[in-house]
Amino acid sequence: MISYISTRNEKNGISGREAILKGIADDGGLYVPDSLEELKLDYRLLMGQSYIDMAKTIFYKFFPDFGEDVISEIVDKSYKNKFETSEITPVVKVGDDYVLELFHGATAAFKDVALSALPNLMSKAKELMGVNEETLILTATSGDTGSAALHGFSDVAGTKIVVFYPKDGISETQRLQMVTESGSNTKACGIIGNFDDAQNGVKEIFASIPRPCEGVALSSANSINIGRLVPQVVYYFYAYSRLVENKEIKIGDKVRFIVPTGNFGDIMAGYFALNMGLPIGELICASNCNDVLTEFLATGHYNRKREFVKTISPSMDILISSNLERLLYFISGEEKTKYYMKQLKEKGEYQISCDELNEIKEVFVGISSDDEEGKLEIAGLERNENYLIDTHTAMGFAALSKYDKRKNMKNVVLSTASAYKFSRVVLEAIGETPSAGDFENIKKLSEITDVKVPKLLKEIFSKEERHRDVIEVKEMKNYVLDAAKNL
Ligand SMILES: *Cc1c(COP(=O)(O)O)cnc(C)c1O
Repeated sequence: MISYISTRNEKNGISGREAILKGIADDGGLYVPDSLEELKLDYRLLMGQSYIDMAKTIFYKFFPDFGEDVISEIVDKSYKNKFETSEITPVVKVGDDYVLELFHGATAAFKDVALSALPNLMSKAKELMGVNEETLILTATSGDTGSAALHGFSDVAGTKIVVFYPKDGISETQRLQMVTESGSNTKACGIIGNFDDAQNGVKEIFASIPRPCEGVALSSANSINIGRLVPQVVYYFYAYSRLVENKEIKIGDKVRFIVPTGNFGDIMAGYFALNMGLPIGELICASNCNDVLTEFLATGHYNRKREFVKTISPSMDILISSNLERLLYFISGEEKTKYYMKQLKEKGEYQISCDELNEIKEVFVGISSDDEEGKLEIAGLERNENYLIDTHTAMGFAALSKYDKRKNMKNVVLSTASAYKFSRVVLEAIGETPSAGDFENIKKLSEITDVKVPKLLKEIFSKEERHRDVIEVKEMKNYVLDAAKNL
């Protein structure tokens, strides 16, 4: 049976349920399946299935230790009637290309796909392992994980959740989504710093607080948790199946996926799909001006020592892409991964070998785009295709527009958020004058475009702002200790 090992220590594999509960390994590494070979399946058998049926097969492939019936129950509970579209992740043809719409969950970003399942996976894992202690979920967010995690874990028995977000690094709508969360077991806290500061702070807490902490187990809802990535593998298969059904491709044809990337989680799920046997030709890693991954994929040099740029795609404003560690592990093995991560921590950079880079380049291409290029994509698609995209999806389209081999296979752009989460910039992009507040901006955008406003976004403006804490990064640890005791 598949087991999970740390990217920094291949010994002592643990079961899927344990890996989900722990979130991150004690040595600071991330959990990965010990064999990609064992994940292989015949993708042709999944073609034409519903999203939920595909999810059952794929979840079970990764987490056989839950048992087939339990997985089936978890998937039903996570997705049935939880999304605004019955398809869960519809595929839409836009011009010559395809858009995989991942934002129809409760909080209107792709994070919902994983975070509607993670609480159910965790609850079951605890039950199966006979764990009674409470779990405190620690989460750093670049904007969207926070609201999706708060929503997913809100009032889930036996859990409490603390989310840290960069105080000035997210849109007004994203902030309101978090600070109005009403679950009594939830806390959202601003930090004076950026997403990397928040994520490093959380990782350090994991490394320095003995677990359990105050009698409470700690886990993570970030994509460092393998339970976050597995649900995201499903939609690559689903998109492929829809293209086959619509006769856009023949079974076996390769498809290119364009993935707006920050923490390298979503695109890493694509790498798993490829290794499971799905005919993926290329994975385009689309970045904004924080182009650390673009440089890495071109030169093999990862260098976080650069200015952190605030862009119109804040959920991709990241210089330390945690999930890249998983890819490094599969390419280079544990010793070198450990070495590279040490270099990153101590020197802020590392360089992989030519052979390693060439292997990565067989699948990945990095392309970065700036705010202006993104706005042009938003305007162009709205005008020419009557199709509304958000500022992150815009980075995907901008990458595709610049890619010279774009026509040699079908392209699927992952659309990671609803445009309404970033209504101010989207209005600007299409030539309208935004108002000071997002309440008016959302209203205006919906009048212009006729695109339905996600249900929860309509409610946040009239709800009480319950979470008012803002702290320094160095105060995060005490904040967590306090929450472990008192939340
Ligand atoms: C989180 C996020 C991304 C980046 O995804 P990663 O898995 O961190 O690479 C892109 N777009 C949006 C809207 C997001 O919320």
